[in-house]
Amino acid sequence: MNKLLIIYGILLFIEFHNIVPAVSDMCIHDEVAIPDVPVGELTYRQMRGKREKHSEIFQPLNIHYYIDDIDPNTPENVILNLKIAFKKVVKFFQDSVAVRSSFNPFLIERSNCAQKWVNGINKNKCSRLKSGPEFCSIKETDYVIPDRYLNKLEVFDYTSPHPRHILKAGPGVKDANFFLFVISRTTSWCTENNVQAYGSYCRLDSYNRPVAGLLNMCPTYFSKKIYKASHYFHVIMHEIIHILGFSVHLYPKFKMCTSIYDCETPKKIAEVDSNGIQRLIFPELVKSMQTHFNCSEEEFGGPLEISQGRGKASEEMKYTSHWHPLLMYTSIMTPFIVEDEYIVIDNITLALLASTGWYRVNFTIAEYFHFGKGEGCKFGFKANCEDSKHLCSPKDAARNCDILRYTIGKCESIVPYHPCGVFKPNHEESCLDEINMQAKEYEQRCVMVTKTNVAEPNCLLTKCISTNEFEFLVNSTWGKCKTSEKAEINNVTINCPELGSICWDEAKLVNKTFCSWGSDEAIAVRMYFADQTYQQLLESDNIRNFKVSTLQAIAENLQMSVNHIVNATLTIFKGAFLDFTLCPPSNMSNDKLGALIEKTQKFLKSSSFIHIFKGATEFAVSSTTIVGDVCESEIK
Ligand SMILES: [Zn+2]
Repeated sequence: MNKLLIIYGILLFIEFHNIVPAVSDMCIHDEVAIPDVPVGELTYRQMRGKREKHSEIFQPLNIHYYIDDIDPNTPENVILNLKIAFKKVVKFFQDSVAVRSSFNPFLIERSNCAQKWVNGINKNKCSRLKSGPEFCSIKETDYVIPDRYLNKLEVFDYTSPHPRHILKAGPGVKDANFFLFVISRTTSWCTENNVQAYGSYCRLDSYNRPVAGLLNMCPTYFSKKIYKASHYFHVIMHEIIHILGFSVHLYPKFKMCTSIYDCETPKKIAEVDSNGIQRLIFPELVKSMQTHFNCSEEEFGGPLEISQGRGKASEEMKYTSHWHPLLMYTSIMTPFIVEDEYIVIDNITLALLASTGWYRVNFTIAEYFHFGKGEGCKFGFKANCEDSKHLCSPKDAARNCDILRYTIGKCESIVPYHPCGVFKPNHEESCLDEINMQAKEYEQRCVMVTKTNVAEPNCLLTKCISTNEFEFLVNSTWGKCKTSEKAEINNVTINCPELGSICWDEAKLVNKTFCSWGSDEAIAVRMYFADQTYQQLLESDNIRNFKVSTLQAIAENLQMSVNHIVNATLTIFKGAFLDFTLCPPSNMSNDKLGALIEKTQKFLKSSSFIHIFKGATEFAVSSTTIVGDVCESEIK
C-alpha cells in the first residue's frame, strides 16, 4: 500500500530568469568611451593579391570573451545567467557579422612603448618601455590585459639591429578576432549612476576597427534584482554593439567602401532635419531607414537621441551613441531597455554596423522591427502624433493596442523632449492567457473593434492563416481579417491590423524560443533531498515513479499545471537532487512572476509537502545542504 510521505525539499539555488523593471536605467556609454585609444598595426593577414576571393578574406566575427575580476559577492546564479547570455550573444555575431581575416591565432598589440626612434637603423621601432602592465582602459575603469592575449614587443638600442629587450608574444586565441574582457566590479559609475553595465572598446586595429573592449557588469545592479534571461542578453547585446562600432568617437573613423580596397572616411556624418532631429547619414544606414519607413528622402538617416547636456568635451560629442528613444522605440539601441519582450535587434542597427565598413552583415538575422514601418518621412513630426498608427498624444489618455498587440496599452510619453507618446504595454490588460506558453495556433491578441461607432481595443481569439490573413472570434462567430482591411461581423467592425502585427514569420523571431533551460522565461531549480531519502532511493526499484510524483506534488503546491515544469532530471549520485525548470506563461506580468518565484522559494525552502512514494517510509530532514541565502537576497 502506498504510504503518505513527507519530503522536505531543500533549495540550494534557484536560477532566476525573471523580473525586470519597466524602464531600466540609462546607458552611460558616451561618458565612459575614450576618444583616443591605442591603434595597432598588424592585425590582418597579408593578402596574396587583389584577386583573392572575398570568402578567404572574410571570416565570422568571433568574439572571445574572458570573464575575470568578478565581485566575490556576486550570486552564483547571476554569473551563470551572464555566461548563458554571453554564449548567445557570441553566437549571434558569429552568424550575422563577418570581418576581414585576422592573424591567427589572434593577438592584440602592446601599447606600452613609451618612445620610438625617429631616425637611424631602428627608425620607428621602440626605444623605451613604459613601466607597468598593459591596460584595457575606459574612463575610470582599467583592466590589466593578461599576457596571453598580447603580441610581442621588441625594444632596440640606437645602433644594434638586434633587440635589447623582448616582451614575448602570448599564445593568443585561435580563430578569434575580437577580445572582450568582462569584469563585474563595483565602480563609481555603478554606484553613482545606478547603471547595469557599461563598456567601450580599448584597442583599434589599423583599419580603426575595435579589436578589444572592456565590459563591466555592475554587481550592485545585478545582485539586487531578478531578471529574465532575455534581459541579460539584451543588456550585453546593447553594450557590445556600442563596443563594436555604435559609438560617437568612431563615426568619423567609419569607412565608406565601394570595394574592400577602395574606402574613404565619411565627409559628412549627420544632418539635422526640419524637425530638429539629428540623423546619421551613412549611405548603408540611410538605405535601411528609407526601406523601413518607406521614405525616399536623401538624408533620411538614423535618428539619434538628443544629447541631454552630458559630456561636451570633444567635437564628436555633439552626437550620441543611441537611437532616438521615441522614433526607434523597441530597438535594442535606444538609451534604455524597454520591456524585454518588445526589444528587437533591428535591421537599422545592423545597417549602422554595416556602415562602419569593418563588417559584412547578414541582414536576414535581424528581428522583425514593427515600429514605424511604412509610416513615411514625416513619422514622429511633432504635429503628427495622431496621424501615425504607432504614435499618440499622451495628454489624450487614449487606449489602443500596444505595438505587439499583447496588451491594451495606454498612451504614455517616452522622453520629455518629444511631444508624442506610444501605447505602452499594460500588463493589467493583457490579452495573452495561461495556455500561451505552448506553440500557439490560437491566441488572444489586441484588435480595434468598432461597435455603434465607438472604436475600442479588444482582446480577440485569433488564428493565423498566412502572414497577411487571420481568423478572429467575435460573439461566438469566426470571421476573417485581411491585412489593413476592415471586416464586419455581427454588427461589429474589425480594423484588421497591418502586415506583420499579428501573424509573423516565425523564422524572424530569433529569441522567442519555447521555455527551456537558458530561455527567456525559465526559472531553474535544484532541489536537494535529505540523506535518508537518498539511501531509500538507492534501494528503490521505482525511481521514475518518485520523480513523476514529486513533480506532480510540486505543481500542485504551486497551483500550476505540471506541463509548466520541464527538463526534470533526478540525480542519485553521492546524494539525491532534482533539477527542473519552471516555465511560467510567457505573458505573465512582472508582479505575478515575482509572486510565483516567491511562492516557489517559500515552498522549497521552508515548507514540507505531501507526496506519495511507493514502498518507502518517512524521511528525515537534512538541513546541512542549504548554502547561504542567495535566493533570499535575490528576492528582496
Ligand atoms: Zn547604450
